[in-house]
Amino acid sequence: MADREALVRLRNIHKSFGHVEVLSGIDLDVAAGEVVCLIGASGSGKSTLLRCVNHLERPDRGRVYVGDHLIGYEERADGRLHELSPRRINAQRTDIGMVFQHFNLFPHLTVLENVIEAPMRVRRLDRATATATARDLLDRVGMAHKEDAYPRTLSGGQQQRVAIARGLAMRPKLMLFDEPTSALDPELVGEVLDVMRDLARSGMTMIVVTHEMAFAREVAGRIAFMSGGEIVEIGTPAEVLGNPQHERTRAFLSKVL
Ligand code: ADP
Ligand code: MG
Repeated sequence: MADREALVRLRNIHKSFGHVEVLSGIDLDVAAGEVVCLIGASGSGKSTLLRCVNHLERPDRGRVYVGDHLIGYEERADGRLHELSPRRINAQRTDIGMVFQHFNLFPHLTVLENVIEAPMRVRRLDRATATATARDLLDRVGMAHKEDAYPRTLSGGQQQRVAIARGLAMRPKLMLFDEPTSALDPELVGEVLDVMRDLARSGMTMIVVTHEMAFAREVAGRIAFMSGGEIVEIGTPAEVLGNPQHERTRAFLSKVL
């Protein structure tokens, strides 16, 4: 990480819901091409942190940079931050693909139409250009043979692979994954992790919330353990999984490993 430039920089991110502070000052840099896995118990703030990265949640304090963009805000001459218009936030989000636990495909669109929708609407690509790119991406996730199928006719693993292709269709610099295999039957988890592994090997920058410890061990450059709204511990898989320094990390790992 040290000699690669950070693509993602999170600085002192705070977020509360009502009186409950869910993120208590998160700092995290992710290098271009790096994969960081976020692990931690349910309720520790992993999804909220991921959603802050693309401004689906508005941090109460702190800054998110992706490349040159300060996400969600512009800094005015007086040094204050002003929230950007929804249109400008959406423009920033084109750099950031997100894949959720529930696949969120458009049910009334075919596989191919799901993948070309955003490039045509947002990037204003013509149908032929968008379709050519979409077919490449569907091929990459092993779903080219299903381009005319509707989501409901696909298995969960197939739907999630289409969702990944759809996320890639905007040519993002960063991919966020929030428990992408948690809703899948066990026998379908592997095919989705295989696609994510290939994506990581291709050099995509990824932040992945996951409970799949074998995947994290193999694919993550670093693993961050979250508890109580903080990153308690971060390091290589060997460090965090093999030699955890904090009692909270050890307690969590003893339940999941
Ligand atoms: P994780 O993904 O690690 O399970 P979350 O980020 O989803 O954790 O949630 C952290 C805490 O914030 C939980 O206590 C959750 O109930 C709360 N929370 C998350 N989103 C909201 C929301 N929109 N409104 C109120 N509380 C929320
Ligand atoms: Mg979550």
